[in-house]
Order: sequence, then C-alpha cells, then structure tokens
Amino acid sequence: MVAAPLRLRRDADALVANWRALARMSGSAACGAAIKADGYGLGATWVAETLAAAGCRDFFVATWAEAAALVPLGLPSLSVFHGVRDEDMELALSGIATPVLNTAKQAARWRGSGGHACHVMLDTGMNRLGLGEGDLALGAIDGLAIDTLMSHLASADEDSAQNSEQRGRFVAMAEKVAARRLSLANSAGIALGPDYVFDLTRPGLALYGGVPRSELTGIISQVAFPEAQVLQRRIVPAGEAVGYNATWIAPADTEVAILNYGYADGYFRGFSGRGAALLGGAVLPLLGRVSMDLIAIDVTGHDIAEGDWLTIDFDLPRAAERSGISQYELLTGMGSRFDRIG
Ligand SMILES: *Cc1c(COP(=O)(O)O)cnc(C)c1O
Repeated sequence: MVAAPLRLRRDADALVANWRALARMSGSAACGAAIKADGYGLGATWVAETLAAAGCRDFFVATWAEAAALVPLGLPSLSVFHGVRDEDMELALSGIATPVLNTAKQAARWRGSGGHACHVMLDTGMNRLGLGEGDLALGAIDGLAIDTLMSHLASADEDSAQNSEQRGRFVAMAEKVAARRLSLANSAGIALGPDYVFDLTRPGLALYGGVPRSELTGIISQVAFPEAQVLQRRIVPAGEAVGYNATWIAPADTEVAILNYGYADGYFRGFSGRGAALLGGAVLPLLGRVSMDLIAIDVTGHDIAEGDWLTIDFDLPRAAERSGISQYELLTGMGSRFDRIG
C-alpha cells in the first residue's frame, strides 16, 4: 500500500507511563483500560498489546464487534460495556468477552442462557446505562455470577457535589449485591482520590494523553502526534488571501506550506485561524480556514519544502481549549486516513 501523506505517531512509552501513573494513583485497586472506539482513535490492537505487555489485565470495549476484533490478542480479560442484546448472544456465549449487564432485560437474558460470569452496571444518578434501586428490589440481578459491580461518574471532571452523591449511592447499592470487585472511577474519577478507586479503575482518556482534571497535569503526557506532509510550498504576496472565504489576508509577503490534513481527519474547523504546527521549538500558526483535507501553515523563515513533514500541535488540553472541541472528540475524530505508526 502507498504510504499516506498523513501519519499518527504514537508514543508507546508515554502510553505505558500514563497507565503506570494511573495505576499508582489507583493504589491497591487494579487499573484497567477503556479501549473502545478503536482505542480512542489510536488503534485498539496497538493500545491493548502495549498495555497488556506492561501488565494491564482488564480491558473494556463498547460493543461485541469491537471485542471480536481483539480476539486474536488473547487478552487476559475483555469486557463489553453495552451488555448483551439478542443480536449479541451468539458471540457473547462463545466466550470471547464478558458482558457488562445494564438492564433487567439483559440480566434476564444472561441468566436464562446459563449464568456465565458477568459484570453489572448500576445507575447512580447519571441516567445513562445501568440498573437502578428499583431493579435491584425486584430481584433483577439475583442469582447472577457477578465479577465486577460498577457504576459511572457523570461529573468527575468537575468539583461537583454529584461525585460524592454518586459514590454514596454506589456504596449503598453495592452492600446489597454479592460481587467479586467494585469499580467506579474513570480517568477523572481516579484523580478524585482514594475514596473513588475501590477494586478496579477504568481509565480511558488519560491513558491517551487527555487531562480531564488539573491533578493530572504534569503526570500525564502526550501519546498521539499527528504529522502531515507538505504538498506545496508557496509565497503569498502581501494583500492576498488564503483558503475558503478568504478569512486570512497576508499582512506581508508570507511563506506558506499546504499540508495534507483537514477536518475529515478530525482536525475540525474550530482550529481555523487558531491551530498550529510545531517545528523544533517554533510554533507555526495555521492560516485561515481548515479545509476538508488541507490546512495552510505559516513557514516564513523556516527551511520547509514540498515532501517534508510537520508535526501538528495536538497537546490535548491546549488543542481542546483552542478549538472548543473536547479532548475526547479530538482523539476519537481522527479517522482512518492516517498511517498509524509507533
Ligand atoms: C468510556 C468509559 C470509561 C473511560 O472513561 P474516561 O473518561 O475516558 O477515562 C470508563 N467507564 C465507562 C463505563 C466508560 O463508558
């Protein structure tokens, strides 16, 4: 296959260091890894192989199709957050992964199929997925062999009263259920401190360089580095415009590199006039609008030619602030046109 003009350089050492840092913060709790959405865009196989080699055991995807793609890796433990629909049962019963049961119907379906090990998601106030107090009272999960009983925090990235409220409900509900382990914290939840880690933590974002809370600043480092190739280098004379709708006008003669990277690669239009490439210690500003497949970068005074590569500034907290796009969306939006390397 032809090498793409766009590549995602992935830093395996940074990924492992982030996981180790989160594992340390998890204390005596095991630290797993959420690798749904193709490992948040980095490549689930690469993430899982790298973290399994570092000692991570508990991996989580959203769907059975995602689980099936990881079967060749033989991961120590793989779980499916979205549970089992009728359509999933054949694959689920083949034993490739463990479901996280979210509803009374899912629980009944699983019990009726033979009572293999499962996990259970409790709703503690997010009102997304999970069983509530009422379901438990009706015996919805009675008789199941529950490995991990879990819930999910809605506002862990904020100093919100909802965090301790959810924790309190989780503890109260867990007292009525027999399970091998309890699990509540995502990345931001780990940063809330030891009261939130229980027996197993489930970070995603922070593994990949995302910083959802300031406690993680300086602890988490960047893993994903988009690099784009220069397709053309031109001089834009003073007074001429660059890009769609002519939003940037050259104040002086400007040397411009046109890069193969655009909003179809997840570099959304929120970066228009605000993004940057990095060259050594220099920050090279993005000029004008982001196109579907192209951006323009000011390379005045730099030795950058057609065919060269530039690294895009993709420090997640900074890129999110600049673009108004969440760190999660920046990662998962990256799309399929990258050669993922490293
Ligand atoms: C995605 C997800 C996680 C990981 O969350 P991050 O905020 O990315 O750390 C953990 N638990 C559940 C149930 C999830 O859906």
